[in-house]
Amino acid sequence: MTGYLRPTSLADAVAARAAHPDWLVLAGGTDLMVNAPHRPVPAGIVDLWGCAELRGIARDGETLRLGAGTTWLDVVQSALVAAHAPILGAAAREIGAPQIQARGTIGGNVATSSPVGDSLPVLLALDATLGLASPRGRRVVPYRDFATGYRTTSLDADELIAAVVVPVPDAATRLSWRKVGTRAAQSISKVMAAAAIHVEDGVIAWARFGLGAVAARPIRAAAAEAAAAGRPADEATARAVADALAGEIRPITDVRSAADYRLEVAQALLVRFVLNAGRS
Ligand SMILES: Cc1cc2nc3c(=O)[nH]c(=O)nc-3n(C[C@H](O)[C@H](O)[C@H](O)COP(=O)(O)OP(=O)(O)OC[C@H]3O[C@@H](n4cnc5c(N)ncnc54)[C@H](O)[C@@H]3O)c2cc1C
Repeated sequence: MTGYLRPTSLADAVAARAAHPDWLVLAGGTDLMVNAPHRPVPAGIVDLWGCAELRGIARDGETLRLGAGTTWLDVVQSALVAAHAPILGAAAREIGAPQIQARGTIGGNVATSSPVGDSLPVLLALDATLGLASPRGRRVVPYRDFATGYRTTSLDADELIAAVVVPVPDAATRLSWRKVGTRAAQSISKVMAAAAIHVEDGVIAWARFGLGAVAARPIRAAAAEAAAAGRPADEATARAVADALAGEIRPITDVRSAADYRLEVAQALLVRFVLNAGRS
């Protein structure tokens, strides 16, 4: 490696990326360093860790804005997240263990775009958007359009993720999150699911279900959402949601879990989310 830049502003970070398109972008390094010994040495590194502008959580009108360099520990400790997006805090608390949470960032999780990235179903359920920056300017992309396939995204080669923006849910929206793995810490998910369910007078007006580890990328369960909309938050609806889900996902069997188990767990989680929404 010959080059190293540590920009301290987003503008400098964008300029560094544009000037060195073949260099590696590094945030906390918790994804990148795992495979570093198995990759060719990069020509250089643009290190975002010192870019204070990318870090922090703020309320902006009816949204929460999380800089891409915000760590999972920042998320866990945020009163704003606890008050307005508690499922994001819950997911952050289950990412790796405290050492990983102290370095790993939300931008890194989003850019890696693993099907087992724990924050990603939450961002789908919360209908988050991403703020992207490049020398051509800024653009906003709904997170649901960002993950395009197995670890692929619609991020352009000269772009950086600047922020994750989460609309603040209203009081009638019930939020749920659950990660299922082999143990409580340092565990890669077998299945994880998040939900935002809007209930009025016991009836589900709309639901957003985000799921991970059941497809090549994190997905919204559109058929399951349609099965919930306009129906009471009860057993019959929960069963219809589970049936619809079975028709729309085809999980795989791999070293971490079996396809049948993944489907059953994903169905059980959505059933639980619907019933909990009816009770609260
Ligand atoms: C032991 C261990 C346990 C883990 N456990 C979990 C877990 O339970 N759940 C989970 O979801 N993940 C887990 N991870 C993965 C990792 O910690 C997370 O994905 C983390 O959020 C990555 O963030 P980072 O800042 O370290 O990313 P980095 O490693 O720095 O970068 C990852 C990728 O994102 C790109 N990138 C980073 N920031 C930006 C940006 N602003 N704009 C554009 N591209 C960017 C980098 O170029 C790179 O391609 C674990 C990792 C380890 C090593």
